[in-house]
Amino acid sequence: MHRDFIYLDNAATSWPKPESVGEAMVDFLRTKGGNPGRGGHHLARQAARTIEAARSRIGELINAPQSMRVVLTQGCTDSINLAIHGVVRAALKCCPPDFKIHVVTSAIEHNAVLRTLHCFASDGLLDLVIVPCDHQGLMDPQAIADACNERTVLVTVSHASNVLGTIQPVGQVSRAIRERSPDVLFMVDAAQTGGHIAIDVQRDDIDLLTIAGHKGLRGPTGTGALYVSERAFPESCTNPRLFCERRGGTGSIAPGLEMPTHLPDALEAGTPNAVGFAGLLAAMDASCESIHEHEMSLTAQILEGLKTIPGVMIYGKPTIENRMPVVLFNIKGLCAREVGAILDTEHHIAARGGVHCAPELHNAIGTCTDGGVRVSPGTATTPEQIGRFLSAVRIIAESSNER
Ligand code: PMP
Repeated sequence: MHRDFIYLDNAATSWPKPESVGEAMVDFLRTKGGNPGRGGHHLARQAARTIEAARSRIGELINAPQSMRVVLTQGCTDSINLAIHGVVRAALKCCPPDFKIHVVTSAIEHNAVLRTLHCFASDGLLDLVIVPCDHQGLMDPQAIADACNERTVLVTVSHASNVLGTIQPVGQVSRAIRERSPDVLFMVDAAQTGGHIAIDVQRDDIDLLTIAGHKGLRGPTGTGALYVSERAFPESCTNPRLFCERRGGTGSIAPGLEMPTHLPDALEAGTPNAVGFAGLLAAMDASCESIHEHEMSLTAQILEGLKTIPGVMIYGKPTIENRMPVVLFNIKGLCAREVGAILDTEHHIAARGGVHCAPELHNAIGTCTDGGVRVSPGTATTPEQIGRFLSAVRIIAESSNER
């Protein structure tokens, strides 16, 4: 790695992780690395303790009523698939053959949501409504509620856009849909916000919350979680509104071919990424509130700096209000991929240039062909590094003008 390397791709995955993450993972492998829940011996018990500690830390973070409602997964995509497949399969199992289920989502969604829903919609198994957003990537809570009908089983929205960083009013969306369709399941994709800003599943009446362990929480890749509400999965229910197709060993209720009916086991088959969750636990122990403030002050510096460079277009909100530490921009006359490549090879700056995984949002802001350059500072980013990034953009923009 070049000694002047600058990492501005924390929206993809946070880097560097706290030192304690690697240490905890090494310690887990050396001293605790049994299979959690499988076997009563010392190492299995140590591993189970690690897994349960991670579960309860995540539960506290999102104000889950019970930690058993936090299902540990391999990442946010895994959580989203578990939730969407689960809700759609459960609805298909119990609805009459002529009843077409209906799902509402928004134009800011990540492909993890859109592609998963599209796969059912293209097979004719559900009607999908994608509610548009405005040019700053903001959804209208009332428009989401108005899109619901008596066939709607699920409303799913992102807490913040991975492209523009715009924070969505999920509490207002929840209240608007509950007024109209009190029983509908409400899912929030918190991939970009988990670990950054407060999330309260009880206050906002969220049924399914999907979290990535490797972004704002600063844990290792391969970790994530899905929160499941009582409405979605009543305690020890044999017919929940979330049906898990994944089957396998859970360590509990070993005899018999049926999966356990209690959470989290009903949704957690197979050996979990225990070493990853040991790292995530250490990452959560190392986190503090000032991190987000630091990242937002760097984001303000990026926005203000980019505004002064001729030929630079910035997308989304003009300030840091209701925004995550994410900025999307383009340089006139250059394609985003090219800018990303120049930043990388000539300036040793890691940013993401091109089309990001949110096609409807790119359509809404007019960047569906070339995308944009996304920069996302993190804990270890310094104001001096942002200064160097801005100088690099100025040089690239000036050389583009000269062409
Ligand atoms: N949703 C959003 C909004 C995201 O930004 C991402 C990651 N880019 C995902 C879902 C998928 O998360 P993961 O990488 O943990 O699978």
